[in-house]
Amino acid sequence: MSNVLRLAIQKSGRLSEDSIKLIKECGIEFSSGGGTLKSVAYNFPIEFLFLRDDDIPGYVADGVADIGIVGENVSEEKRQKVRAVEKLGFSKCRLSIAVTKSFNYKEKSDINGMKIATSYPNILSGYLKENNIKASIHEISGSVEIAPSIGLSDAVCDIVSSGSTLISNGLKEAEVVFRSEAVLIACPELSKGKLKTLDDLLFRISAVRNAHNTKYILLNAPDKSIDTIISLLPGVKSPTIMPLAKTGWSSLHSVVKENEFWQVIEKLKAAGAEGILVIPIEKIIL
Ligand code: ATP
Ligand code: MG
Repeated sequence: MSNVLRLAIQKSGRLSEDSIKLIKECGIEFSSGGGTLKSVAYNFPIEFLFLRDDDIPGYVADGVADIGIVGENVSEEKRQKVRAVEKLGFSKCRLSIAVTKSFNYKEKSDINGMKIATSYPNILSGYLKENNIKASIHEISGSVEIAPSIGLSDAVCDIVSSGSTLISNGLKEAEVVFRSEAVLIACPELSKGKLKTLDDLLFRISAVRNAHNTKYILLNAPDKSIDTIISLLPGVKSPTIMPLAKTGWSSLHSVVKENEFWQVIEKLKAAGAEGILVIPIEKIIL
């Protein structure tokens, strides 16, 4: 039985670039772009289908594709039988209810009686039910944000990231209905061979993702400060310490999470650290 995994990714849109980038960072080489609908990797048992994102959950559920990368919003909305395997950390957005700017919105119960235009009727109706809100849903497939201005609805439930599209359409965000990011989904029935390939792929993805928010840090410090610095930069196991040619000084190498780095930098300097270098890491195997 074949161990070649078929991965469905978005043909062109907000998920495409980061999906392709992630696969390439995993060391998997393939050609994409130029209207290609199918492609095969040169150096890993994986082939690619380039599709509209809406079709991906269905193709994965049917086994036409073995795995896929989609937004959780689409995966949740389509209600297909797929397994969410791994969140991928990109294409973060939220699905929100927005009302007209002039509406004096105070609380969820204000949504009662409204007509809401959306491309996400399933997620929205779940949210309304959960919150005991009685509103009607008007399903439209695109340009949702103009619905109130043309008299089609009182409110919308649509994807928001910065909120600028809402503002330019005279709307304001009222409630967040669902938070989403890209997710790797899989067909619930995969052969042993394909599951093994999926494990190999997930191993590479986690190495790449660990590396993304971790930096390699090198610094010089007086020997008397080393214990303090080790407590600030514990690293994966423990930091590497090498003596400098200048007596009484050492060079210390460690890794640090990017967000933690900004919290410890002042303390490192206060402990006497000098010549601090912070370097990107390509992969981390823990
Ligand atoms: P397709 O033609 O493939 O159907 P689409 O127009 O439906 O594409 P896109 O706008 O490309 O979809 O968005 C794809 C996914 O990216 C969305 O389902 C959502 O998960 C995420 N997304 C949408 N808007 C944003 C945004 N502004 N910022 C980050 N992620 C977003
Ligand atoms: Mg779509």
